[in-house]
Amino acid sequence: MEEKAPAGRDDVRVRVANLERFATHDGPGIRTTVFLEGCPLHCPWCANPETQSGLPALFHDAERCVGCRECEGACPEHAIAFVGGTFSFDPARCSGCRLCERSCLHEALELQGRTRTAGDVLDEAERDRDYYETSGGGLTLSGGEPLANSEWALALLKGARARGLDTAVETTGNVAAWTIEAAEPLVDHFLYDLKHLDDETLRRVTGGDGRLVKANLALLLQRCPEKVNVRIPVIPGFNHDPELLVAMIDWLKAAGALRVNLLPYHTLARDKYRKMGREYECPPDPLDDRDLSPFHEYALSIGMESKIGA
Ligand code: SF4
Ligand code: SF4
Repeated sequence: MEEKAPAGRDDVRVRVANLERFATHDGPGIRTTVFLEGCPLHCPWCANPETQSGLPALFHDAERCVGCRECEGACPEHAIAFVGGTFSFDPARCSGCRLCERSCLHEALELQGRTRTAGDVLDEAERDRDYYETSGGGLTLSGGEPLANSEWALALLKGARARGLDTAVETTGNVAAWTIEAAEPLVDHFLYDLKHLDDETLRRVTGGDGRLVKANLALLLQRCPEKVNVRIPVIPGFNHDPELLVAMIDWLKAAGALRVNLLPYHTLARDKYRKMGREYECPPDPLDDRDLSPFHEYALSIGMESKIGA
């Protein structure tokens, strides 16, 4: 039996990592970008690793920490422990009470995000309405994978429509087709990631379902090509390969894509991994625009709009 799309209730609370005001790289104009937590993928280059698990993330700055262990004593859930003198955090135990943050006199702890309703986020986003109207901007839903929290995301998008706000969604496309279909009439701009063409490589490196990603993208390109901005994050050792990138651009052209954004790999999130006690497994050197210009030129040569960077 086909699964039915939920109506989109606005009293549901989900973990929101951050609300970024005056964002200029997440769709047209000046925007407020809402970063939802939780993602079906685990890309090792993720710029927002704190959003991946959907559980609370606690940044611990070892350079500020003096090892006093006040935070361990303050945590009512025993989510913080010092194992062999090393700070450790169990997100599954954390209730998000923030007592640890308050107990730390050295500002070494920072709990990421909090639970919010769609209505509460819309009220905050609406404060910048004047900026949206003068710049052609609006509200962008990002993550994590925002459509993975489909009920909440649909409620937010419906609310934004009702308030006359322009809407954009940054998506991996790794969600059920009905979610894409339900979101489509409520979204003005899809910023859709295509990371690889080979399903096995995508699954092995990111956990993603390449068939689903491509099928959902093809569906959107059939229904509303003018709304779709495909983004290719170009990652050394993963897809920074001339043959592959040309094949990806050809695939997009054949599927009806009008434009492509080539995103050069960067390492700006490395500090977040350190504060989460995680290894940063990607190469140390970023790419720059020159590394991507042959593919940009190629996309232009076959009649697509193309841009390097978001
Ligand atoms: S309270 Fe702050 S300084 Fe003390 S151990 Fe915890 S994180 Fe480190
Ligand atoms: S937010 Fe509360 S439950 Fe979570 S680690 Fe800090 S003190 Fe413990």
